[in-house]
Amino acid sequence: SRAQAMEVSESPTVTYDDIGGLAEQIREVREAVEQPLIEADRFVEVGVEPPSGVLLHGPPGTGKTMLAKAVANETDATFIKMAGSELVQKFIGEGARLVRDLFELAAEHEPAVIFIDEIDAIAAKRTESKTSGDAEVQRTMMQLLSEMDGFEDRGEIRIVAATNRFDMLDRALLRPGRFDRLIEVPKPDPEGRKRIFEIHTREMNLANDVDLAALADSVEEVSGADIRAICTEAGMFAIREDRTQVTERDFREAIAKLESESDDVGTPVAFY
Ligand code: ATP
Repeated sequence: SRAQAMEVSESPTVTYDDIGGLAEQIREVREAVEQPLIEADRFVEVGVEPPSGVLLHGPPGTGKTMLAKAVANETDATFIKMAGSELVQKFIGEGARLVRDLFELAAEHEPAVIFIDEIDAIAAKRTESKTSGDAEVQRTMMQLLSEMDGFEDRGEIRIVAATNRFDMLDRALLRPGRFDRLIEVPKPDPEGRKRIFEIHTREMNLANDVDLAALADSVEEVSGADIRAICTEAGMFAIREDRTQVTERDFREAIAKLESESDDVGTPVAFY
């Protein structure tokens, strides 16, 4: 069931150029993940340990997974992704075994970037309730910490985790030698939104009246994933009307449609 739970990609295709509005975060990821992989000698020369693990935190759909994929791509590392929710298993010891499998797989594919999405699923603050389920989740996290503690012998493996529930994380996870480099990945500002609109319309046949800067100014509080959805939806409006060019009106209708959908669902994931 390894194959089921993990996504393995020998060479992800995402590059830093595909990521809009996160210049500072890209710089930090390169320093904490890329440099230790490609310039391990320098860390030895200077006599410092690179960060053990990097934790990306911020709202959903802001580019955390993209950052991890891009750094794997840039270093020609294998990208191995596992969702924290997949590590929450029914049977005792199963979650811990998956964690072991994860690190074994990475060792077989060095250099490798392990990406654990939704790490809060196995590393939430301890609650009062002491059900067996909690104990099992706890064991899974202990296994992860012990794998990370035995890291020095593991060669060219870097570990990146992501969460959009930073406030909920068990602080034990953030101690030195564990996820000791935190990188916040926020929603984009207007300039970042414009860049993300540009990225997601690169291949689109845009009419002359489309003003991406104005679109970026008119949608507040959206994530990169929301912007991608707007661009796709705008293209769908053009297709429905048998046009080859996507117009300003298509974008406006797409924005209105996605805004009303996120209202319907009641979970303000996209536009809050
Ligand atoms: P989650 O917390 O929900 O897992 P995430 O932060 O990992 O989200 P991604 O999976 O990286 O988000 O983003 C989802 C998609 O949204 C990307 O594949 C991309 O198309 C688009 N996207 C998100 N952020 C950006 C960005 N900063 N620049 C360009 N595209 C973006």
